[in-house]
Amino acid sequence: MTNTSGAESEQPGPDPALFDKIVNLCKRRGIVFGSAEIYGGFRSSYDYGPIGVQLLRNVKDAWWRSMVQLRSDVVGLDASILGPPQIWEASGHLKNFTDPLVDCTDCKTRHRLDQLDDPDVCPMCGRRGTFTEARAFNLMFRTRAGPVEGAGAEVYLRPETAQGMFVNFANVQRACRLRPPFGIAQVGKSFLNEITPGNFIFRTREFEQMELEFFVPPTEASQWFEYWCAERLRWYVDLGIPEELLRLRPHGPDERSHYSEATSDVEFRYPWGWGELEGVANRTDYDLRRHAEHSGEKLEYFDPATEERYVPHVIEPAAGATRALMAFLLAAYDTEEVRGETRTVLRLHHRLAPYQVAVLPLSKKEHLTERAREVLGRLVPHWMVDFDVTQSIGRRYRRQDELGTPYCVTVDFETLEDGAVTVRERDSMAQDRLAIDDLVGYLQERLAR
Ligand code: ATP
Repeated sequence: MTNTSGAESEQPGPDPALFDKIVNLCKRRGIVFGSAEIYGGFRSSYDYGPIGVQLLRNVKDAWWRSMVQLRSDVVGLDASILGPPQIWEASGHLKNFTDPLVDCTDCKTRHRLDQLDDPDVCPMCGRRGTFTEARAFNLMFRTRAGPVEGAGAEVYLRPETAQGMFVNFANVQRACRLRPPFGIAQVGKSFLNEITPGNFIFRTREFEQMELEFFVPPTEASQWFEYWCAERLRWYVDLGIPEELLRLRPHGPDERSHYSEATSDVEFRYPWGWGELEGVANRTDYDLRRHAEHSGEKLEYFDPATEERYVPHVIEPAAGATRALMAFLLAAYDTEEVRGETRTVLRLHHRLAPYQVAVLPLSKKEHLTERAREVLGRLVPHWMVDFDVTQSIGRRYRRQDELGTPYCVTVDFETLEDGAVTVRERDSMAQDRLAIDDLVGYLQERLAR
């Protein structure tokens, strides 16, 4: 199913226009806004609007459900964002997390040397030989804790959530009496002072990650690495991303981090081409050993059955929640001709859709909206439900299609007589008429969580 060769297959090329359509839809429908827009914007920061916050929450919930709720071998954690330098010394971020930077003296733009097609040519203005000497630049945000300016302790905003799991390895293992193989999962914000943020929410300085550190006996590491690569790819497919938009790309030996024994990226076909969606790495025992050395604490597992003591190896599937949200939107976006009009529809999996249901009274007449509100009241304990009374019913269906709402429930004048409503399904546009009393059961069957 996946193309692991790295070669482009004979699919149609990426669609750059799709990117603009998504950015436009995001702003127009309250999914994602540029941050601080009334002050001219704040580069590379975004605010998730009323629809986007719901979508993002659903992405994170779907991850948590699959990685924690449905498994008996993974527990959750929510570690702090601020951390002392010792963590980042041990992890290698203070020393190694540094990119070489060059400035173009002509157009004043800044670039990562290792990402340039030609190290002598500025990709912005096209001029040759205009770069300054490369300077090292640490990607972590540094700040100070404490009330006195300049006197407090130096702290860092975490550049990844992973270290929270490593430094809490012994706490969690003892508290929950866990035996490898077991995992610790975390979802939360990370911060990277990216030199070249861009492509909308693909690469930002503040973003959300969904990471699992899966601790295994050393001899089982390769088998668990394969397992997690397959499992993570399947997660995106199960949530509706077509298989041809996904692939697993193993890193070559010179591409991998020095401690990693194997890394594969789950890649998505963005409008500009293939790019990373998630990384799965076999991190060996590197992190636990480093933290044990730096902290002086024992970070190992003693197996009472075999009387064996060992440092577990770690398999890490590390995904971006905000980047995944973008991929889900790109994959779900569709347009089709319906009776001479173009219908835009987000074919989102119902688990991800910002609203699962919309209740639409056919007219604004009070006795109808009152009945419709009763229907709304029955649905809101179960799902996120929109309620919309403005404009024609056709326009309202289109609006819900554009948000990816799987079911619209229309309350019409006949409802007042027969207690029945019309349910319209987003993708097929097929309609069913059923009693209000049967509505929750009908939707429960189709929107199983
Ligand atoms: P990239 O090569 O795209 O910079 P990475 O390999 O450095 O990614 P990791 O550190 O492995 O990324 O982070 C795991 C995941 O977190 C990435 O696959 C991505 O989904 C997400 N992520 C990392 N950096 C960013 C960022 N600056 N903005 C948004 N998401 C990010």
